[in-house]
Amino acid sequence: MNIYVRTNKFTAGPSAFVTQEDLLALRGARLLGVNPPVRDFAFMDLWSKPLGLLYLLQSLRAENSVALLDCVWEARAGLKTYGRQKTAKHEIEKPAPYAAVRRRYFHFGPAREEIAAKLAKMEAPDVILVTSVMTYWYLGVKWIIELLREIFPAAKIVLGGVYASLCPEHAARLGADYVVRGRAEPAAPYPAMDLYGAIDYGVSMTSFGCPFSCGYCASGILWPRYRRRSLAEALDEIGHQTALGARDVAFYDDALLLGKEEFFYPLCRELRARYGGGLRLHTPNGLHVRQIDGRCAQTLAESNFKTIRLSLESIDPKIARESSGKVAREEYAAAVKNLRAAGYAPEDCETYILAGLPGQDIQSVKDTINFVWDNGGVPKLAEFSPIPGTPLFEAPAQKLPALRSEPLLQNNSVYCSYFSRDITPEELQELKDMTKRRAL
Ligand code: SF4
Repeated sequence: MNIYVRTNKFTAGPSAFVTQEDLLALRGARLLGVNPPVRDFAFMDLWSKPLGLLYLLQSLRAENSVALLDCVWEARAGLKTYGRQKTAKHEIEKPAPYAAVRRRYFHFGPAREEIAAKLAKMEAPDVILVTSVMTYWYLGVKWIIELLREIFPAAKIVLGGVYASLCPEHAARLGADYVVRGRAEPAAPYPAMDLYGAIDYGVSMTSFGCPFSCGYCASGILWPRYRRRSLAEALDEIGHQTALGARDVAFYDDALLLGKEEFFYPLCRELRARYGGGLRLHTPNGLHVRQIDGRCAQTLAESNFKTIRLSLESIDPKIARESSGKVAREEYAAAVKNLRAAGYAPEDCETYILAGLPGQDIQSVKDTINFVWDNGGVPKLAEFSPIPGTPLFEAPAQKLPALRSEPLLQNNSVYCSYFSRDITPEELQELKDMTKRRAL
């Protein structure tokens, strides 16, 4: 008898799809959450934690036993700045679609034997919840599902996460028993970070979604409704993680500064009162520069925000329209001026610039890079990735129909230079070089 499900989806369901609500009905089960290894040309731990999975495990632990296997965390290979870790990797053969790419391809995570040995020591789970992130990382997901299937043949495997949400039909062919369809806000007040033991950094989402709708961004698909959490909820989430040892906190918000008077300033005030200068804060997602006036810049500095990323995208008006017109040249210049006046150095003002958008003129990328240098920031290239379901997916998919069926082609590291051919690898390298040093 299956004692751990209230819904009949798991006992009888011929359907490959379930919802978060179905998962929340689990009772009396041994659950194992799994964050797969990453397979890609490059990977960097920008305070990367499988936040959705951790919220879900927290929601389920009152009625079930929960455990975690985070393959990225298992491959930690030495502390970097602000609590982040290097991730061990080994080179692997490139999958066929990347045969022509002149770059090395890696498995970021422990080797098979290491993971297998770790899993073999665990009590066999009833249900395994596998998460996923980038669509073009699905080979790491497939790899771990195959291994889990081998070691725990009786367990039901459920695949969720960003890739599963964006490419459900593709995800349904990866070998899991069920795929989570549709998205829902977390049902827990904070993520189950204690499953890592002591932690160096915490992560927080004070809001879900974004009120803008940029043509290349999946935020509106993943979070159809923009909602700000309450100040008490945000502080509770952070407090839970500082109690576990976190001295750094990264915000995953898409729109942290929106409504800053009502939320961000009170949050910073409270964090200063509680932690003094003892907590370092980071915003790996770009901040909306229109919001960074003098007071905002001062608040960021006084509140110990150490890592700031600015969203500029492009000074080309055509491209800026695709970016919801979030920022004008003057606003960017003013924001950097305010940040510099608050004590931030140019290298603290790293600025995202988009490259490889459909129809984008390479000269406009160069102009934007120079504009950032001229205004005292440091440019950082963000290569376009065509994400299924976004408005800017259709044109590339008409040009390259295989984009619809092969997520590997959506990889931002190689899409524009190898598959769309909008930029040659040499041109892309030239742009990257321009972001590394100021042209004389
Ligand atoms: S502002 Fe940022 S998060 Fe919001 S839709 Fe645009 S790119 Fe996405």
